[in-house]
Amino acid sequence: MEGGIHRSSTERAQEGGATRTEAMGGRILIVEDEREIADLLVAYVERGGFEVARATSVADAIRVHAQFRPDLMLLDIGLPGGDGIDVLTAVRRRFDTPVIMVTALDDDVTKLSSLRIGADDYVVKPFNPSEVVERVRAVLRRVRGQTGRRTLSVGELIVDLDARVVTCRSEDGSEGE
Ligand code: CA
Repeated sequence: MEGGIHRSSTERAQEGGATRTEAMGGRILIVEDEREIADLLVAYVERGGFEVARATSVADAIRVHAQFRPDLMLLDIGLPGGDGIDVLTAVRRRFDTPVIMVTALDDDVTKLSSLRIGADDYVVKPFNPSEVVERVRAVLRRVRGQTGRRTLSVGELIVDLDARVVTCRSEDGSEGE
């Protein structure tokens, strides 16, 4: 192998672009009181390589969020015991968890108030579950891009904890991408 840079298969795949997100991972909290919709979202998000927890009411969502500490929350607006805005407001007092709101109506007022208190994106029902997973990835990419990747250096190795990719420094000391 030339140049002393050892590329993992994951990394080679990432260069193609399309499979970059496969190594993303993370914990997603799905807050949805309608069983069928929740099941559908859970199935797609899990298949997307994420670990999933679910909640079905405002109180449940706040409790599960505190325990599960998700990397992102998919948050239904119409919930028993209040609405998704209540959950978002409560969570935002302590955490900066990215949130994608899920609403039955393309309601501009709800949209604006959610965005004002810090929702990161929007999905309107009925939605395409594959598209929801893509939105999840897009928001996580954006957020992780802002905070920078978490990396560890171990001797010659650089471990990217987010992408789960290990690279080796080349002989001239530069980092293999
Ligand atoms: Ca609902």
